[in-house]
Amino acid sequence: MILCANFKANKTRQETRAYMAVVESFVSANDITDTIIVFPPFTALEHDPRNVLIGVQNGYPVKNGAFTGEIALEQLEEFGIKTILIGHSERRHILGETQEQIAAKFRFFAEQGFLIVYCVGEPLEIREQGHEALMAYIEKQFEGIDLTYSDLVLAYEPVWAIGTGLTPSNSDIELLHGALRMKTTAPLLYGGSVKVDNAGEIMALENVDGVLVGSAALSANDFCDMIAQAV
Ligand code: PGA
Repeated sequence: MILCANFKANKTRQETRAYMAVVESFVSANDITDTIIVFPPFTALEHDPRNVLIGVQNGYPVKNGAFTGEIALEQLEEFGIKTILIGHSERRHILGETQEQIAAKFRFFAEQGFLIVYCVGEPLEIREQGHEALMAYIEKQFEGIDLTYSDLVLAYEPVWAIGTGLTPSNSDIELLHGALRMKTTAPLLYGGSVKVDNAGEIMALENVDGVLVGSAALSANDFCDMIAQAV
């Protein structure tokens, strides 16, 4: 299983250190062999701890240059970062990233050999149109994306499930993940209102290889609780 904690714009550097200490010692005390990835804000970046991967929530697809306000490869390399989240719905919908920009990021960071957690997902009005419309929408989010990239992890996160407490039914998750499985051999994560109460059940579903957790992973103890359910 792969379990990711996406902090978004939460936590200070000090809070992140305290969090990592809890998660790292939990992972080693319990001989956890699952892949654990934490995505802190840029300001809290550190080198990867021994048993947990640290990734970034974004990155600008150049080595360095005149891109005010952006963080590029050179700055990530300084921290040994080799894991990145691309295509998250908040970047698509709040920050206005286009599929073209997202695909350019994907290409650049794939060329650099990053582990890429690539996110796709539909808004509610698309879901309400049925499975075919949903798949057609997601297909557009695959434009310019190499689904055969060897260090790809694909995260399905319905927009309407993110931060809302709503989740698709288990059978809807299995249906969607089954369809994604036909397209790629990459591990498939589910994200969107995963919490302690439903993480184990979701991870047990067919074609679900892990979870991407936002708000419920802000508590280190709760995240550890979810890691413990990954059997
Ligand atoms: P959530 O966020 O767990 O708070 O719904 C998930 C995500 O945005 O990755």
